[in-house]
Amino acid sequence: MSHDRMPDHRKLGRELGLFDTDPLIGAGLPYWLPDGAAVRHALEEYVRDLERRAGYRHVYSPVLGKRELYEISGHWSHYRDDMFPPMELGGEQVVLRPSLCPHHALIYRSRARSYRELPLRMAELGGMYRAELSGVLGGLHRVRSIQLNDAHIFCTLDQVADEVRGALEMIRLAYQDMGIAPPRYRLSLAGPGGKYVAAPELWERSTALLIEALESCGLPYEEAVGEAAFYGPKIDVQVVDAAGREFSLSTVQVDFHQPGRFDLHYIGADGARHRPVMVHRSVVGSVERAVAHLIEQHGGAFPAWLAPVQLVVLPVSDAEAPQAAAFARRCVEAGLRAEAVDPERGSLGARIRQARLVPYQAVIGAKEAGGDRVALRLRDGRRLESQPAGDVLARVRSRVHGHSTDL
Ligand SMILES: [Zn+2]
Repeated sequence: MSHDRMPDHRKLGRELGLFDTDPLIGAGLPYWLPDGAAVRHALEEYVRDLERRAGYRHVYSPVLGKRELYEISGHWSHYRDDMFPPMELGGEQVVLRPSLCPHHALIYRSRARSYRELPLRMAELGGMYRAELSGVLGGLHRVRSIQLNDAHIFCTLDQVADEVRGALEMIRLAYQDMGIAPPRYRLSLAGPGGKYVAAPELWERSTALLIEALESCGLPYEEAVGEAAFYGPKIDVQVVDAAGREFSLSTVQVDFHQPGRFDLHYIGADGARHRPVMVHRSVVGSVERAVAHLIEQHGGAFPAWLAPVQLVVLPVSDAEAPQAAAFARRCVEAGLRAEAVDPERGSLGARIRQARLVPYQAVIGAKEAGGDRVALRLRDGRRLESQPAGDVLARVRSRVHGHSTDL
């Protein structure tokens, strides 16, 4: 779908009952309604599963930290304008975290590390906060409370290129499964001014590693000066929203700065202490932005694995309502999001129209009810021959569990 025909996710999000905001909660602080929460949950579990398969281990860390933590990481001097003001607490100052990296660096250094543990891949879907001005807030694109799909790979210099390539491959696969158009890759470099940590030789080294990974994956890219993180260059994966604005979803960064600031090390094969490199990477970026983009990209007709309701069961008349309820229950027990919609909610035609965004519609008439069969209609308009209910269930399950964009 071209972006000039894409619906605005804010309008669609409200119409479909996915998320909303309340002035008493505040601007940039959306809440998720049950259907939106189902999409978000499916996306988060998908990412965790992808990460587990790629050798990541998950952690949880708090959304608060002492101000001193961000003074060490460099956020306080380079990124303070985007942070919430500190809170006074028992003679200390604590802040809402602007990123997950410092917590992960502390988890890494919580005990001695050997080269045998590297690359050590630490992942978290965690909260972080950005003090966006209220004028730029809207829907899920610009929010103050962000759930970030983040990970940090602690590795040797020799391992960096492979880890960056591995992250780019995860991103490619995730976009394919989410049905998102092939994105544009941007190499984000430092610009003039004091926004960036000064260490020219480290910036050059990180940039060379990122270029090597992009080129060995055969990915064309454009350079953008002034878009780097304050501690290093990054690859940003760019997509376009309904208004035609480009924004970053995924990112891969090579960082020599924070391992030094946190004095991270590992014991090498030579028995000596060495400094690891930190690769920061996010497959889907912030969950808010990713879902906003999925809503716009698909116009609410999500791939089956992401759909709030994956299958509706429609009895033709009241006589088949018990069989419809039983089949819906069987689908729910098999791990699907399914529900029966009875004739009291309208004629069959009206119920089919109402469920037009639901990937699968299982119609049960007198003929089907008598033989434990189902007539399956697909969202794209295809109608399949009446078939055994168990076969329909197996088909839908295999498409959903395979994260297929085909129905
Ligand atoms: Zn990070």
